Amino acid sequence: MGAAAFIGLGSNMGDRKAHLDSALDALDATPGIALFAASSYHETRPVGGAPGQGLFLNAAAAIETSLAPVELLAALQAIERAEGRTRSDRWGERTLDLDLLLFSDHRIRIVASGPPAATEVVHLEVPHPWLPFRRFVLAPLAEIAPDAIDPITGRSVASLFANLDRRPSYVAICDPFNRIECDVEAMLVTALNAARCSGRTERFAAKFPGAGRYSEAASAFLNSLEDIRTELDPATWTRDLADDRWLVTSFWFDEFVYFAEKALTDADRDHFHEAAEAVRCTIVTPTFVVAEPSAVSFYTGEVPILPVATEASRDVVSKVLAACAATRAG
Ligand code: ATP
Ligand code: MG
Ligand code: MG
Repeated sequence: MGAAAFIGLGSNMGDRKAHLDSALDALDATPGIALFAASSYHETRPVGGAPGQGLFLNAAAAIETSLAPVELLAALQAIERAEGRTRSDRWGERTLDLDLLLFSDHRIRIVASGPPAATEVVHLEVPHPWLPFRRFVLAPLAEIAPDAIDPITGRSVASLFANLDRRPSYVAICDPFNRIECDVEAMLVTALNAARCSGRTERFAAKFPGAGRYSEAASAFLNSLEDIRTELDPATWTRDLADDRWLVTSFWFDEFVYFAEKALTDADRDHFHEAAEAVRCTIVTPTFVVAEPSAVSFYTGEVPILPVATEASRDVVSKVLAACAATRAG
């Protein structure tokens, strides 16, 4: 009995339908792979790459495989090559792209190391890191596997897909140690023409971040909770962002709760925790959170996380903008 895995297919060069048809045939013909289901083909706009590319045809396939994940990746790359795939610019035009989206409930992170000239360099991340942000991946996948679980968020494919349609669309930046350049929020607000919290919550966020500054009294944390409740009231944002604008905040509720609970005494913590959970149910939830990787080590929740390392502001912003664009329909 093999493992269940899901593959994302895309083509925007040449005879796109023929490339996807042959890819599905080739998958099924590969020893160790049995094709279980294939979605319909979805025509989508390219996201994130160089401008001027043609429309994509995207699909998803469910397979059962006795191959190990790295062997499966090698088989996918062999099929890409057979369809004339050449690797040029990141997110450039391609005859065929085959991405491993999910492999059973595995979480795999193999990062290429060693000199590039050494044997075959392997880089594999499963679940595919962009899975929760891409409508062009989730829409076909939801057709064939709505109940498949993303082991990182614990959410089903149908739930991740529905997350993209929730409004207001909201990006929270989680950076308690101030490792992301501080101009990122302003650059995002400008590029997205986004709304931001301009009142007490932002003032709180400016004062709060930074390790070693958790000396607030319990009452101060409870007051901040009330500020957040007011500022992230869905009624405000659903009304103000009816035109589909994004909301961007420079803090994340879970980050605040985490550090507040760390700072409080045992006696105050339970009461605060109860109050925080009550507030959580009444405020807007991020569509996704942009986080500096060390900041998410404490988090095991349902909100998708887009990790941004110590990249330059411009690179962080373009990554976030690509994720925002990927959530939208063409
Ligand atoms: P994206 O992965 O953002 O969709 P892409 O599909 O255009 O971008 P490719 O040029 O196809 O990117 O692949 C670049 C590298 O990604 C490959 O060399 C491969 O080793 C690596 N990779 C890492 N994780 C995966 C995965 N889950 N599926 C496919 N390739 C992966
Ligand atoms: Mg891809
Ligand atoms: Mg790929």
